[in-house]
Amino acid sequence: MRVDPRRTRERMVREQLEARGITDAAVLSAMREVPRHEFVEEALASKAYLDCPLPIGEHQTISQPYVVALMSQALGVRPGMKILEIGTGSGYQTTVLAHMGADVYTVERIKSLFFTARQRFLDMRLFNVRCKLDDGTMGWPGEAPFDRILVTAGGPDVPAPLVDQLDDPGRLIIPVGASRGRQTLLQVEKMEGRVQQIDLGDVRFVDLVGTHGW
Ligand code: SAH
Repeated sequence: MRVDPRRTRERMVREQLEARGITDAAVLSAMREVPRHEFVEEALASKAYLDCPLPIGEHQTISQPYVVALMSQALGVRPGMKILEIGTGSGYQTTVLAHMGADVYTVERIKSLFFTARQRFLDMRLFNVRCKLDDGTMGWPGEAPFDRILVTAGGPDVPAPLVDQLDDPGRLIIPVGASRGRQTLLQVEKMEGRVQQIDLGDVRFVDLVGTHGW
């Protein structure tokens, strides 16, 4: 059976995002547009719009649509913002942020995922995305400060270099948990030299691996 991706996406936005309280018009519009099925292997394309994460190889996953929407909304993205993303993975989250008009700097530590995502960004002519193969827990010092930082893998703590590289005012969204595989989504706000944390609820992400990770 052939599916019409546009209608399937429209339904995903209605049933999985709007119905659960995602209201940011820029997030909803980006997720209506970005062809999520092109970020997974062809064999999984028919499952791309289901309400679940999917494998992308190397024991990593593309997050569930609702989680991508929740994080993108919590980030409070405005056009022209400079955003650092740690954990490029398939490049789907990166592409959603790029469609919201941000300049995205994304870091991935696994070679094969990095090269596949980089090719997708080229094919989709996303000129406002820059990517790098590195340990993202060190941030991207040469491009700091960032208006927003998004980490899409879970670590034991908030990596200090990321807080340092956050602009003032600035916001960082990251899953943090004392044990692997279960985290609390944290919103870290930097404002007038002070740093505050807000708890956004429980999530499950793959491990953030690196100097300031597991
Ligand atoms: N945002 C991705 C989800 C990726 S899953 C998407 O939309 O598809 C998390 C990714 O974080 C994995 O690809 C994993 O390899 C990567 N990762 C884990 N630790 C990292 C680190 N220290 N630096 C960069 N990437 C890391």
